[in-house]
Amino acid sequence: MALNNMLHQGVGMTSQRARDRLVIRLRKKGIRHSTVLQSIARTPRHLFVDEALSHRAYEDNALPIGNGQTISQPYIVALMTETILKDGIPGRVLEIGTGSGYQAAILAHIVPAVFSVERISGLLVQAKKRFKELKINNIMVKHGDGTNGWPQPKPYNAIIITAAPEAIPTPLLEQLSVGGRMIVPVGQDRSVQELRSILRTKKGYETTVIETVSFVPFRSGKA
Ligand code: SAH
Repeated sequence: MALNNMLHQGVGMTSQRARDRLVIRLRKKGIRHSTVLQSIARTPRHLFVDEALSHRAYEDNALPIGNGQTISQPYIVALMTETILKDGIPGRVLEIGTGSGYQAAILAHIVPAVFSVERISGLLVQAKKRFKELKINNIMVKHGDGTNGWPQPKPYNAIIITAAPEAIPTPLLEQLSVGGRMIVPVGQDRSVQELRSILRTKKGYETTVIETVSFVPFRSGKA
C-alpha cells in the first residue's frame, strides 16, 4: 500500500474498521444523532494525536496532545456536538480551545463554518496542518485568548467551549445568537465539572446540566 493511502485509510488499529467499532460503542453509550456518528466514522482521529499514541486513537479515552493539554474523549466530543445540533444545523459555530483540532474537524463535516480560537500557538500550528492535509476548508482559526471570543463575525448560532472556566466569560454569552446554544464545562475543580447546555432566548439564558465531565482548565492569556 502506498504511504499516502496508509495514512488516510489507516492499517490495523487505525483503520476504518477501528472507527466503525468506535461508532458502535458510542451508539451503545447513547449517542443517537446519525450525522454526528457519520462524522466520527469518517474523521481519522489517529492523525490528531502523536504517532506514538495512534494505536490508542479509537479507544474512547482522552489522550495527551502535548503542552499539558488533551484531545477530548470521543464520547464527550459526540455528546457536545449532538447537543449543539438539537435545534437544527447551526450556520456558524465558535469553538474555544482548538487543541488538536479534532472537535473542530468533527463539526466542519456537519456545519457550514467553524471559528476556533486557541491560546497555545504550537497546538494551533499542528491543527492547521491537519485541516490542510484532510482538505477541510471551512475552519477559521485564531491564536488568542478565547475569553473575549471572536468579536466578528458574531453572533454565533452555537458556541462550544472545550476547556473548563470557573465562570462563563460574559463576551462569550453575548456572542451567542438568540435561539443559539452554548455547551460548556463549568467548575472550579480541576477534575470534575458540570457540562452545561445553555439556550439563549429573547428573555435570557436557560441552563440545563447534562452530566459531570473532566476538562483541562480554561486559562487566560496567550502562550
Ligand atoms: N477541542 C480540543 C480539546 C483540546 S483541550 C480537541 O478536540 O483536541 C482544550 C484546549 O483549550 C487546550 O488546547 C487549551 O490550550 C485551550 N484553551 C484553554 N483556555 C483557553 C482560552 N482562554 N482561549 C483559547 N484556548 C484555550
